[in-house]
Amino acid sequence: MSILIKQVLLQDQRVDVFIENKHFSRIAPSLDVVADTIIDGKSFAILPAFYNTHTHAAMTLMRSYADDIELFTWLHDHIWPLETGLTEEGVYHGTRLAALEMIKSGTVYFNDMYWYPLGAARAVEEMGLRADISLVLIDAGDPGKSEEQMRCADEVFSHEKDFSGRVRFTFGPHAMYTVSDKTLRKCAECAREQNRMVQIHVSETKTEVENSLKKFGLRPVEYLDSTGLLGPHVIAVHCLHLNDNDWDILKRSGATISHCPISNMKLSSGKFQYHLAMEHGIPLTLGTDGASSNNSLSMLDEMKFVALRAKADSGDPTSAPAQQVFDMATRNGAKAVGLNAGRIEEGLLADCMLINLNHHRLIPSGHLISNMVYSADAECIDTVICDGKILMQNRIVPNEAEIIRGAEKTYQDLIKH
Ligand SMILES: [Zn+2]
Repeated sequence: MSILIKQVLLQDQRVDVFIENKHFSRIAPSLDVVADTIIDGKSFAILPAFYNTHTHAAMTLMRSYADDIELFTWLHDHIWPLETGLTEEGVYHGTRLAALEMIKSGTVYFNDMYWYPLGAARAVEEMGLRADISLVLIDAGDPGKSEEQMRCADEVFSHEKDFSGRVRFTFGPHAMYTVSDKTLRKCAECAREQNRMVQIHVSETKTEVENSLKKFGLRPVEYLDSTGLLGPHVIAVHCLHLNDNDWDILKRSGATISHCPISNMKLSSGKFQYHLAMEHGIPLTLGTDGASSNNSLSMLDEMKFVALRAKADSGDPTSAPAQQVFDMATRNGAKAVGLNAGRIEEGLLADCMLINLNHHRLIPSGHLISNMVYSADAECIDTVICDGKILMQNRIVPNEAEIIRGAEKTYQDLIKH
């Protein structure tokens, strides 16, 4: 299937964009080619789509379910008990709802950490976007569980061949306080051997750091480093409570940070040291975290919050400028997870969005990136393309009503459980 987008605004130039075989095949002021689908781009700008580097997609089912509560109480007393009623089918419906929301707000990729990975994978496959679906590892306090969890990983990974290249399976050790030393070491070894990404929550709260020091005499980043887990294939999520040595270790490891400002603010988890991340030159990307601690999955919201939070915390309005934040949400995310995407350039994977330049939130025109970071909402995004296929056009995603019905019914069944 091929797509020709005619006379769309790319930076400050009108161009034709030809998409073929999942890639941006040709971009030029004017192209004379035959295409299966032609889009008149005159009222649109073309921008890279968003790459969400940390979420728990099916937690859309718990959106606004237990708000305004401290992290540990929230997990132990509310979220984890409800999750005992989840099934693979439930995760499928929750992930479809997440994918719908993501597509409608310009996201084409998410780094998922949740239960029933095959249910999530089925939803991703159907909805047409990309995802790294990590197998959750949690075994602290149960030493016998380590082997079982790794066996389970092998079983899930064996299904990779049943899905397209848009779905990849990865490792998701939940955090250093929920995963045993043995499993972390095994995970580190297998991820390297099998060339898989790893994502893990790191130094999210002060309590995590205090408990780690008490138990191991090491801070969480030092401890994870001692297990061999950290490396360029690792997305370290949150990273709020770091000292100088932690920053140095992260830098040396080549890991990428997934910064989730809205979740951090909502759970009062702490302040992200944006300027230190920049000073250390650590790759920075953006994540929404799950819909129960956000409560949306919009990368537009996330961009605005990261910029405002960095400025407010540092007292420096030049901190986190719009282009830098936009790059975090797009090209940095794609690069961190090894996708040849995130920019509108010939040869790259055809992931993009078409922005409605006549939308009132984008007027006056001429400051598109600032408008996207500070002013736009999802309604400004008309079309989303992933892997060379249209996932949304004129803001319509196929089967929207049925996806919503399926998720609502799943939630109603879950609370009766
Ligand atoms: Zn998370």
